[in-house]
Amino acid sequence: MSERLPFPGGFLDAAGLNRQHVFDLAALPDDVRATLGDTAGYRQLILIGHGGRRLWECVQASGIGGAHPIDDYCVQTVQRWFAEKMPGTRYRIVYPGQAPVGLQALGRLAGWHHASPFMVGIDGEWGSWYAYRAVVLADSRFWPFFPADRSIPCVDCPDQPCIAACPADAMAGGQFSLTRCAGYRLQTDSACAYGCLARSACPVGAEHRYADDQMRHVYGQSLVMLRKYLAEK
Ligand code: SF4
Ligand code: SF4
Repeated sequence: MSERLPFPGGFLDAAGLNRQHVFDLAALPDDVRATLGDTAGYRQLILIGHGGRRLWECVQASGIGGAHPIDDYCVQTVQRWFAEKMPGTRYRIVYPGQAPVGLQALGRLAGWHHASPFMVGIDGEWGSWYAYRAVVLADSRFWPFFPADRSIPCVDCPDQPCIAACPADAMAGGQFSLTRCAGYRLQTDSACAYGCLARSACPVGAEHRYADDQMRHVYGQSLVMLRKYLAEK
């Protein structure tokens, strides 16, 4: 690859998509690249995420409704970003979409993802209050990013308040039990229908904790998916 260009991330930052990472496709491990579908004709992969509350505020301000307002907003924002900042650059959004993209594997390579006891990724800056929002194949020529070099919070957390905060003891014994967690979430009047008490008990990145309505939306969606999954089993 000859000429490399600076990454125009300011547009995405302002839109609440404030975590970005550029990979050269050729540098990705084969098993990660295999989750992306057909990558022929593209040079790079751009991983886009959000941290904290800004994205939700932007989604609300956009007026986008429907069942998946965050996904719809993110797709529209990425489309506008390419149109305004990179006209003529070929790209394909592979997530949100049907491809089984290995989001956590990409997050690990970007230095964003470290495992937490409650199975949500965590890092030293945002805590667990971030998520993957878009994965884009692009015929771009940006400088690839170095992985974020941050501490691994759970290594320096001897008290582990998240574990004691879980009313279902889903992390008892050093392993996460999806059965116990899901069973509790589905109970009538569950305290975890629209949130995760363990996640909220973690002090790391607490200033970025989602707003109540954001939490309700995110966990409401996962509750719907959980019910659907159990009904199809
Ligand atoms: S409370 Fe401690 S162990 Fe639990 S997720 Fe946070 S940093 Fe990790
Ligand atoms: S959602 Fe509730 S039951 Fe599940 S891990 Fe979090 S605190 Fe425990």
